[in-house]
Amino acid sequence: MRIETARLTPAGSLFKGEHPASVLELEHEALLHAEEPVVYELTVRLVSHEVLVQGRISTKIEVQCSRCGEFFSTLVEDSSFLCTYEIEPGQDSLDITEDIREAILLLIPAFPVCREDCRGVCMQCGRNLNEGPCSCKKKVLNDPWEKLNRLDL
Ligand SMILES: [Zn+2]
Ligand SMILES: [Zn+2]
Repeated sequence: MRIETARLTPAGSLFKGEHPASVLELEHEALLHAEEPVVYELTVRLVSHEVLVQGRISTKIEVQCSRCGEFFSTLVEDSSFLCTYEIEPGQDSLDITEDIREAILLLIPAFPVCREDCRGVCMQCGRNLNEGPCSCKKKVLNDPWEKLNRLDL
């Protein structure tokens, strides 16, 4: 998002629009798919030599569930995005795309879960347990204790 600083006022102006998902530079990420646009609705004010950018940015990102491994779409939103920029003499524009990108990336959950009660996958057979139980379920629950008992601590 590029801002023409000459037109800014202390009262502020509203910038609404969207960036293509490519600004997030996530094309090479294996665990994330960003295809939805990054939507912004920001008020930009000029206060003496500082530009204040404040508002809401959001997008939807496909992330991989850390329990079951399925991809699902999650809303990534910063409703109190705030950045300030010092304006150098003679500077007539400002590009804040990088700051929007960083704010979005910081909000992507590190261990996303597709739903609160996701059952994950069976450690033994790899079955997605959200689709139903597998036949080795009992064994998995008992195994860790059996191994501990055999250690003769
Ligand atoms: Zn899941
Ligand atoms: Zn299993």
